[in-house]
Amino acid sequence: MGSEAAPHQLRMFFFPYMAAGHLIPMLDMAKLFACRGVASTIITTPSNTALVTSAIQRANSNSISLLCLPLPPPADTGLPDGWDASASIGRLDFQSVHHAIALLRGPLHHLLAGHQPDCLISDMFLPWTADIAHELGIPRLIFHGMGFFSLCVLHLLERYRPQDNVSSNDEPFIVPDLPHPIEMTRSQLPTPLKTNTDFNRLLERMHEAEAQSYGVVVNSCYEMELHYAEHYTKIIGKKAWCVGPVSLCNGSTTYDKVERASADHHGGCLAWLDSKKPGSVLYVCFGSLTQFTTSQLREIARGLEASGRAFIWVVRADGAEGVEWLSEEFEERSEGRGMIIRGWAPQILILNHEAVGGFLTHCGWNSVLEGVSAGVPMVTWPIFADQSFNEKLVVDVLEIGVRVGARIAGEGEEVVVKSEKIERAVDWVMGSGEEADRRRTRARSLGEVARRAVEDEGSSFKDMSRLIEELMLAPKRVRE
Ligand code: UDP
Repeated sequence: MGSEAAPHQLRMFFFPYMAAGHLIPMLDMAKLFACRGVASTIITTPSNTALVTSAIQRANSNSISLLCLPLPPPADTGLPDGWDASASIGRLDFQSVHHAIALLRGPLHHLLAGHQPDCLISDMFLPWTADIAHELGIPRLIFHGMGFFSLCVLHLLERYRPQDNVSSNDEPFIVPDLPHPIEMTRSQLPTPLKTNTDFNRLLERMHEAEAQSYGVVVNSCYEMELHYAEHYTKIIGKKAWCVGPVSLCNGSTTYDKVERASADHHGGCLAWLDSKKPGSVLYVCFGSLTQFTTSQLREIARGLEASGRAFIWVVRADGAEGVEWLSEEFEERSEGRGMIIRGWAPQILILNHEAVGGFLTHCGWNSVLEGVSAGVPMVTWPIFADQSFNEKLVVDVLEIGVRVGARIAGEGEEVVVKSEKIERAVDWVMGSGEEADRRRTRARSLGEVARRAVEDEGSSFKDMSRLIEELMLAPKRVRE
């Protein structure tokens, strides 16, 4: 036997939660690791194999593969056919979906035992994967789909509960133990931080699984989250690697060409943007899940119209009643100035088009990162989950956004943001004036910093190298 064994190729398995906002960044992360010589395998379920396969084909790499877990029989889940599809899973009952996904435990155990990867990166919403990884001696890393800032705020609000000591939903309190004095109100918090729901049990299980895990991988870059990456490690006591913004792995010419061709085939939004002046268009999108009521859609339409700005508005009103006016009146009136996209927009290509000068966003973490990477200032409109924390980061810490003035709706409550507020915030971001110019300049330079982070020898590039080296050296020890 020769004394020098060839270094083995690191094999990392990625198991994303199926919702688009979790699946997309994990796919990008797998691509980034593959670019660094890692054999990346994505584990998913039948309804998402086509999407994952086409992402793999576009990545044009032999180092990424796909493994598909069979779904449990429908009688065991009570969910409709195709429940696991990324486009719709977020609209199903959360508890039923979690029950169904947990039934993948057996097939996942079998798959991992057979392949024995060097590492499993698992979404935070799949806490039961921690037991399997532990049993098989495979280091498990968690992907939260959130940034460090939100992770810190969430953790500190759970630990100190300042939200329980205010007398009204609008009385401000300071989030304790953060590097900056960050003020919040109860009306900005997601429901599980205010009342005990079924989701809180899942949160507890996620924390237990986190304690069992090797560390966390975060889709962010150090420069963007200032002191919060360090702070997270300090307060949670977990190793963390910062490897983003992972969406920047899609900047290749091949990707641009393929996406552009298909985007223009479905509505010509990029050709339309080509006809607009640089920085003149507002891009409006609320992520993959948000569905507004007709009254809120009307307020948005009025606000956009009153702003006088050119816009692309991605409207998700699948099956909603009473929205004929959208095409019959509004779309006609806005012809030439506004474009409505129904369904899926090529968000990254739109944001990076030079005609786009602002982003009205629901502050989903991926959208925030994509807006930052494109160097555009934002109008922030958080709807649920970590989105109001992301708004704080964008508006108060990074100072590249203006809030529209939304609060998070309570259970069964309808919150409508009026058109005047929308018009005003859009004007602040898209308009002229010293403050708007400073915001634009800050957004542009943050975009440059974020892009540098993933380039050779950038901070995220180096953190990824450190993680790869550690996993190459340490897996045997970790498994003991
Ligand atoms: N997205 C897109 N086109 C759309 C809507 C969303 O490409 O029409 C992508 C967007 O670029 C982002 C993801 O879907 O990568 C949405 O994730 P985010 O965290 O922003 O929000 P969520 O959908 O989870 O609320």
